[in-house]
Amino acid sequence: MVSSLAAPKLTTTFSSSTTLLFSKNLPLSLSSPFLSLPLNLTSSVTHLHCRSLSFCHRHRRGFVAASAEPDNGADSARKYDFDLFTVGAGSGGVRASRFAANFGASVAVCELPFSTISSETGGGVGGTCVLRGCVPKKLLVYASKYSHEFDESHGFGWKYDSEPKHDWSTLIANKNAELQRLTGIYKNVLKNAGVTLIEGRGKIVDPHTVDVDGKLYSARNILISVGGRPFIPDIPGSEYAIDSDAALDLPSKPEKIAIIGGGYIALEFAGIFSGLTSEVHVFIRQKKVLRGFDEEIRDFVAEQMSVRGIEFHTEESPQAIIKYADGSLSLKTNRGTVDGFSHIMFATGRRPNTKNLGLEAMGVKLNKNGAIEVDEYSRTSVPSIWAVGDVTDRVNLTPVALMEGGALAKTIFHNEPTKPDYRAIPSAVFSQPPIGQVGLSEEQAVEQYGDVDIFTANFRPLKATLSGLPDRVFMKLVVCAKTNKVVGLHMCGEDSPEIVQGFAVAVKAGLTKADFDATVGIHPTAAEEFVTMRTPTRKIRRSPEGKTDSEVKAAAGV
Ligand code: FAD
Repeated sequence: MVSSLAAPKLTTTFSSSTTLLFSKNLPLSLSSPFLSLPLNLTSSVTHLHCRSLSFCHRHRRGFVAASAEPDNGADSARKYDFDLFTVGAGSGGVRASRFAANFGASVAVCELPFSTISSETGGGVGGTCVLRGCVPKKLLVYASKYSHEFDESHGFGWKYDSEPKHDWSTLIANKNAELQRLTGIYKNVLKNAGVTLIEGRGKIVDPHTVDVDGKLYSARNILISVGGRPFIPDIPGSEYAIDSDAALDLPSKPEKIAIIGGGYIALEFAGIFSGLTSEVHVFIRQKKVLRGFDEEIRDFVAEQMSVRGIEFHTEESPQAIIKYADGSLSLKTNRGTVDGFSHIMFATGRRPNTKNLGLEAMGVKLNKNGAIEVDEYSRTSVPSIWAVGDVTDRVNLTPVALMEGGALAKTIFHNEPTKPDYRAIPSAVFSQPPIGQVGLSEEQAVEQYGDVDIFTANFRPLKATLSGLPDRVFMKLVVCAKTNKVVGLHMCGEDSPEIVQGFAVAVKAGLTKADFDATVGIHPTAAEEFVTMRTPTRKIRRSPEGKTDSEVKAAAGV
């Protein structure tokens, strides 16, 4: 399996051909990767030097079948160790490797040794989602929600002799045991699919060779799925700050924490620590949280989180962190200094893991943020090298990395050219209250369609009537006036991610407001509002001059 290789032979350079390159043009930062739907995704035509005549021809047809007839820069006479070598066993890498092996390809994947904190030397099979993202985060969200539920319970007759206490070390120990179990399951998934797992750091040394800690492996195709890592800006005292990796694995619960950033990760951690009774301050550079989300959702979630005790410092950027002898931290911003923090967390975005991978030397094109540029089939500028998931910075979500990995395996090894479909990707923010959304925001819909009908409901949920808590729910349908199609659906309130996952099928299927109206509700639920909102809150019409007027109607469903 280990081989030392002759220099790879690339076919003759062929110039002045055109191929489609995917380019990211999203309005959101790395930390807010959610709303990346068709109108935001642009495919720009770029002139490249094609590596081979056949590559260019095939790209014009839009299909590359490496297994059927390799046009991936491979020397057909040459014997490779593997059909596919994947660097990084996170969501995208595991999915692509497993599917490729199921299609009959010989596949190896390399991954860094397990660590709860990611680094150049630490990672683990399962990747960010399983070890430092979605899963541990959601477990901590579950832990933190109890405090609200204890508060709710009093109105329903529950009495406690003493206040419930939380033990942080039990939570973290149980969470870490679960991560060990999950990483084991992912290893088995690879093993059962016949994928060779190699522990170590992968580096590309030529278009068909990967070096893993000094051993060389050759492959007809190489997949880069190395994801990204949190980014902390370089300000004085930044060494005292923590990132999301560390926040999920702290030795003790923060007493008072500053969270810097207004994206989904910042809001989720604010909810976690607030629910676990830390004092939480969120510092955001802009006026509002969740850039790129529907404006009303942005306002609503911030208001509800404030009601639950989280303090937002808007238009406040960090300038320095000062550590005192007693261990406490102060955060200096453009507006002043806030003292007494036990922890300061940056949730200011993530950077693709493309450093020291050997990509630039290979001619793999990166964008200005270091993300790998790929075409619609996830192929890089080097024909034998492909990339999926966060490292390409398209839509940085686990289900999207899975979709891209699956599509890639079909394209290369199943003779079935498959482009990932980025339309109507639903997403959630596990803030408290949580958000679920699919399709276009009101602002995006107005931009795209001009004439739009908006239906909203803002109400006190049934549970709050007895709990006595000031909880509210906000729901919104965005309807294209011309076609009557529901093009956007948004909710902030209990269970919204679960509810919106179901409705996402309807939005993706292009169902109309009439279809929603014809659906019988489930009573009593909050979700039934989505099929009972009859009167538009406003009708937005583009005037002949191209300006937009808003005709405000009676609030619907309140
Ligand atoms: P990753 O899962 O990051 O996997 C990359 C792997 O490559 C890692 O295991 C890494 O160790 C390995 N690696 C890196 N370099 C090398 C190398 N040189 N050699 C070998 N291996 C290497 N998404 C959601 O959909 N829902 C959520 O609720 C959600 N919550 C999140 C919460 C947090 C705090 C974070 C940080 C992310 C969250 N995400 C969520 C995003 C999600 O985790 C990512 O989109 C997803 O993990 C991307 O998968 P990937 O395969 O591209 O990369």
